[in-house]
Amino acid sequence: MPDRTGRLLRVDLSSSRLSREPIPDNVLRQFIGGRGLGIKYLFDELRPRVDPLGPDNKLLLLSGPLAGTSAQSCSRWVAMTKSPLTGGITRAVGGADFGAWIRLAGLDFILVEGSSETPVYVHIDGDSAKVLPADDLWGLDTVKTEQLLKQRHGSDSRSACIGPGGERLVRYATITSSRRTASRGGVGTVMGSKKLKGVVISRSHHTQVPVLKSVAKRQVEVLQSGRTPAILNKYGTTFLTPGTQEMGMLPVRNFQVGRLEGLEKLGPEAFLTLKKGNFGCYSCMIKCGNIHEISEGAFKGVRSEGPEYETIWAFGPNIANTDASSIVAAEIQCDLFGIDTISAGNSIGFAYELYQRGILTRKETNSLELIWGDYRPMLQLVQLIIEQRGLGRILGEGVRRAASIFGQGADDYAMHVKGQEFPGYDPRGAKAEALSYATSNIGASHMYGRNPQELHGDPYPRPLDRFADENKGDIVAFNQKMTAFRECGVMCAMIFRSVLIPLMGELFAKATGYEELLDQRQIELIGERVLTLERAFNVREGFSRDDDTLPKRMRTEPLQDAGPATGQYVRNLDTLLDEYYQAMGYSSRGIPLSETLSKLGLGRL
Ligand code: SF4
Repeated sequence: MPDRTGRLLRVDLSSSRLSREPIPDNVLRQFIGGRGLGIKYLFDELRPRVDPLGPDNKLLLLSGPLAGTSAQSCSRWVAMTKSPLTGGITRAVGGADFGAWIRLAGLDFILVEGSSETPVYVHIDGDSAKVLPADDLWGLDTVKTEQLLKQRHGSDSRSACIGPGGERLVRYATITSSRRTASRGGVGTVMGSKKLKGVVISRSHHTQVPVLKSVAKRQVEVLQSGRTPAILNKYGTTFLTPGTQEMGMLPVRNFQVGRLEGLEKLGPEAFLTLKKGNFGCYSCMIKCGNIHEISEGAFKGVRSEGPEYETIWAFGPNIANTDASSIVAAEIQCDLFGIDTISAGNSIGFAYELYQRGILTRKETNSLELIWGDYRPMLQLVQLIIEQRGLGRILGEGVRRAASIFGQGADDYAMHVKGQEFPGYDPRGAKAEALSYATSNIGASHMYGRNPQELHGDPYPRPLDRFADENKGDIVAFNQKMTAFRECGVMCAMIFRSVLIPLMGELFAKATGYEELLDQRQIELIGERVLTLERAFNVREGFSRDDDTLPKRMRTEPLQDAGPATGQYVRNLDTLLDEYYQAMGYSSRGIPLSETLSKLGLGRL
C-alpha cells in the first residue's frame, strides 16, 4: 500500500508560527516530491525579484516518497531556494539520514519563511514543532552543533545545520547533516540570512514507512550485478581522478590545461592508504563514503569523511597541487565551517590565475604568493574566505562578483555559468556536458543532467560522439528530465543508469500509488514539468538565452595538453542551444512556449 504523507511543515521565523498543511492531491501527482514540490511551492509563493538574503525568500528542505523505505539510496534530501549566488533557482542535494527523518516525522518537506532577529533552531518531535533559541550554537562549527543538538534531543535525533560560513553569509555556504552536505548555490547562506542555525528532528514518535519488499529486493539484485557499487564502496569517487585525466577533461590551473604531472599521488590507491572506514546514507548498501585520516607530516591526525572527486580536483589539480594531505585538510576546513568545496576551490584557482597574470598582486592577496602547486596559500585563502577577511571576503562572493570587483579583464578567467562556479570537468572535452552546463537553470553543475551517452558510451536512447559539435540537444534534454524526475525521489545519482529507468518507475509507482509512473513517457513528462517550471522561475527573474552561455575560455580557447581532447573547444554553442530549445519546446530566446506550458499542465503561467 502506498503511504504518502501529503503534508508540509511551514515555519515562519518572523512570527515563530508553525503549522502543518496538507499538500493537494493534484500537486502531489503532478510534482511527486523532492525537487518537484520544491519548485512548485517556490514558483507559487515567491514574489519575483525578492532579495535572496532577505526575509521574503523561502528555504525548503524536502524528502521524497521513497525516503524511509528499504528502497536503496532513495532517502536523500534536497534544499531549494532562490540562490544568492545566481539570483535564480537553486537546488542542493544532501545525504545521510535527514531525508528519512523528514519523512518519518510525517512530512514531505519543511518550508521556512521570514527571518528571525536572533539565532534560532527548529525542533520537530512527532506532532510538535517549536522554534528555540540558538544563541549558544551560533558560531559553532557543524560537528559541534550536531553533537550539541544530539545531547539535547537524543542520539536518535538527526539535524541539518549551518556553520560559521553560513552565519557570515559566504555566498556558497552549505547545509550539513551528519557530515554530508547540501552544497551548491548558497542554500546555507539563505539559512544564515534567516538566523536559522539548524533543524533537528527527534525520532521518538515515528512510524516506520512500509517496506517495498519485492521491488526493493530486485533493486538490490540489479545493483549487485554491476561493478560500480563495489568500486564506490572501496574508493568512493576518488577512482574518477585518473580516468578524467585520460579523457582530457581534468581541469588543471583553473582550466588552462588538461594534464597534471604527478597525478598518481591523488589517485584512488593513494587515498586508499589513508582510508579508515566507510559510511553511507540511510538504506544504502553501497556506502560510498570513505573516511580518510592523515597519519604523518604537517597534517597528522586530520580526519575527514572524504574527500570526494570534486574536492580532490578543487584543491588539487585546479591549483596544480599533488599533496593529498593538504586536500584532506582543506576539505575538513570547508566542512566544519560549512562552505562549498567546489565553489571555494574554483574561486581560489581563479585568484591563482589572476596572480599569474598580474591582475592580482601581493598588495591584494594579503601578501600571499599564489604560486601554482603551493598549497599553503590555498589553505590560508580557505581560512580568509571562512573569516570573510581581506581577499577572502571578495572570493567568498563567488567568481562572477569577484571578477567585477577586480576588473582588468578578470572576467575572462572566471569559470562560471549564471554565477555558479564550474565543477571538476572540462566540458570542452564533451559537448553535451557543455550544453548541459550552459542551459542548467542552477548554473554550472555536473549533476543537473550528466550525459553517460558521451561519457561512458551508454547506448540509450542513442550513443553520442563526445567531440561532435552538434546533434546533442535532445539527449541533453532527456538527461536533464530524467535527473529532475530522479530528484523528485530523492534517489542518489550514483545508482542511476538507463537500465534502471523501468525499475525506478516501479519504485515510484509503488511508493505513491500512481500507476502511470510505470510508463517511461510519464516519467519524462514529470521531469520536463519540473525543468520547465524551474526555467519559468528564472525567466520571471529576468533570465534568457543570454544567460545560457559559457565562459569565453570554453568558447574560444582550444584545450591544451589534454590527451585525446587536445584542441577541442565549444565552437558552436548557438547551434547546440537551438537544438536544446527545440527539444524542450522553448522559444529561440530560451523561454517556454505556451503550447509547452499547456502540454505540461502549466498553462496558467
Ligand atoms: S551511493 Fe553514496 S551518496 Fe549515494 S546514497 Fe549511497 S552512500 Fe549515499
